[in-house]
Amino acid sequence: MPQTTTRPSADPATSTQGPDHEIVIVGGGLSGIGAAIMLDRAGFDDYLVLEEGDGFGGAWHWNTYPGVGVDIPSFAYQFSFEQISGWSRVYALGAELKAYAEHCVDKFDVRRRSRLRAAVAAAEYDDANGMWHLRLADGEVITGRYVISATGVLTKPKKPDIAGVDDFDGIVMHTARWDHAIDLTGKRVAIIGTGASAVQIIPSIADSVGHLTVFQRTPIWCLPKPDASLPWPMRLALGVAPGTKAIARLLSQSYVEVTFPLAAHFHGYVPIAGLGEKLCRFHLKRSVRDPEVRRKLTPTYSLGCKRPSFSNTYLKAFNRENVFLQTDPIETITSTGVRTMSGADHEIDILILATGFKVFERGNMPPFRVVGSAGVDLEDFWTENRFQAYYGISVPAFPNMFSILGPYGYNASSYFNLIETQSQHIVRLLKTARKRKATRIEVTKAANDAYFASALRRRRNQVFFLADCARANSYYFDDNGDVPLRAASTLETMWDANHFPLKDYNFSGAALSS
Ligand code: NAP
Repeated sequence: MPQTTTRPSADPATSTQGPDHEIVIVGGGLSGIGAAIMLDRAGFDDYLVLEEGDGFGGAWHWNTYPGVGVDIPSFAYQFSFEQISGWSRVYALGAELKAYAEHCVDKFDVRRRSRLRAAVAAAEYDDANGMWHLRLADGEVITGRYVISATGVLTKPKKPDIAGVDDFDGIVMHTARWDHAIDLTGKRVAIIGTGASAVQIIPSIADSVGHLTVFQRTPIWCLPKPDASLPWPMRLALGVAPGTKAIARLLSQSYVEVTFPLAAHFHGYVPIAGLGEKLCRFHLKRSVRDPEVRRKLTPTYSLGCKRPSFSNTYLKAFNRENVFLQTDPIETITSTGVRTMSGADHEIDILILATGFKVFERGNMPPFRVVGSAGVDLEDFWTENRFQAYYGISVPAFPNMFSILGPYGYNASSYFNLIETQSQHIVRLLKTARKRKATRIEVTKAANDAYFASALRRRRNQVFFLADCARANSYYFDDNGDVPLRAASTLETMWDANHFPLKDYNFSGAALSS
């Protein structure tokens, strides 16, 4: 892999040299790739992408479990500036998305300015020299005038807090670390969890396993998935017929807008969650024969409180004779399997943990320590003040650091919209700093406070605070009971990226040598 050269950096307290790079982007997933491309296109070509894994694509690099795919139509799940027409399905599979990430890395020359297997362990702002010092896991230090945190949120696999989880003698796999050397054929398999990952895995492995026991704690609302393969004449048409890509994207975006942001954030005005629940119940009734199994698969919280799933095959899998839905709570994992509260032992060969990811736990947002101006620790700041960030991007006292997926930044539309609007916001800041010959960009406390207050006001209409979410067990809620998603339409996010008041930031500092 081509490596960029980085000179060893001095101690923050004594360094007087300029930074190694103008911008360091942490994360080689789609956020990091998108930010890099947009910076480059805006004339900021001195960037370095640091990625802890051995490949690009983030979620699509790490998640390779059977059936992995996107649940936003591919026409909307790609960059607006790089729309391809070769998707094999309306909802692309994981391998295609990983290939798309690699394609973008090569086409836009990101690979040359990236380092793989470079995990950032800590970031510290050097007030004296106006730059960030990023310490890698191996001790190397890299400096950057600006840092873009593009580490995503659903990246660190979460082991369930179940007694004995390390005592099982058979094979244990987390969905996000799938071991393709393991053959499931004819095996007794258990899967813990019924979130989006399990919904895709269960129907994909049901055919080949001997027995599959699904341990469900909270049922998930499951909507039908308007999916279909895209035969080559259609792909050809998408590639050559003028306007077809734009129409497919617009239709896909509109569908996503109605099913995610509109349903979640404007529930007070358009309570369409009830209609969605009716559709889910109909889908369940049509898919599952046994009424008792149907009852167990029916959520007792409102649609929208937690992320729903989209599948035409998940519910039907429970009609199979080798698939068992177990709702008796798990007491412990033993050396031979899973024991439930009723005392039943379920002997298995393989245990799949579909138990999700760390979200708002300490050490995950971002997954490295961040120390800002005058020694302020980002996690301490959030613990004391609740999660907050101006447009999800900037936090006072953390100059020159910008996040793609910070608190109250993501409106739950296509992730690509988030990447592009946040990158646009950042590019606007960097261009302004360059014009004003500034080297320090810091959001004002007043602007951040006003944005946070408005985020809290807007939650009056969000489904999370209006509907019955008590039994949802939703990872959307943090320890304070806040849901740090942005209550805005996608059009608003696009407008704001180019029109937020520049006076909300302080631009200061004389240019240093670099
Ligand atoms: P998840 O949605 O967090 O689901 C975790 C599951 O594990 C839940 O059913 C949870 O039950 C269960 N669980 C956790 N700890 C448990 C315990 N101690 N005992 C019993 N059950 C336990 O995780 P995920 O399915 O990996 O999905 C995470 C997110 O990744 C999704 O929401 C989505 O944003 C993204 N994703 C997207 C796609 C896609 O685009 N198609 C696919 C996969 C993932 P409770 O509900 O009771 O907590």
